Amino acid sequence: MRLDQSLVDAARDLLERRFPGEEGIAAAMYTEDGAVLTSVYFEPEWGSGMLCAETGAICEAEKLGKRVTASACVSRLSGDDPVLILTPCGICQERLFHWGPDLEVAVPDPSDPTRWRAKTLKEVQPYYWVNAFEST
Ligand SMILES: [Zn+2]
Repeated sequence: MRLDQSLVDAARDLLERRFPGEEGIAAAMYTEDGAVLTSVYFEPEWGSGMLCAETGAICEAEKLGKRVTASACVSRLSGDDPVLILTPCGICQERLFHWGPDLEVAVPDPSDPTRWRAKTLKEVQPYYWVNAFEST
């Protein structure tokens, strides 16, 4: 399954449901069989053990033995702020590369970060370090 508005909506719906009127981060992923896996960020009150919103869905896919094909992450700083599209952080990009460089991720439109564009991981990170091994 390729990234589409339904996947972004799944992340937005979870954000609204789990963090009504407040700050939050949520992610949604398609697997190759069309399943939608969703998760939210985890930020413990103390310490530095935060987990990105994508982490739960990545672990769920691995638990189910499914291949992730697309990922979208959304966030807002407060209930009064707009919902923004977030490019996966470097660590999540690294994790998502597990399913290949053609996996699609939502990135913010440069002129309007509430709107998304689909980019493959290889477009987001053209100098991915594993490329060195694959060109020899
Ligand atoms: Zn991350």
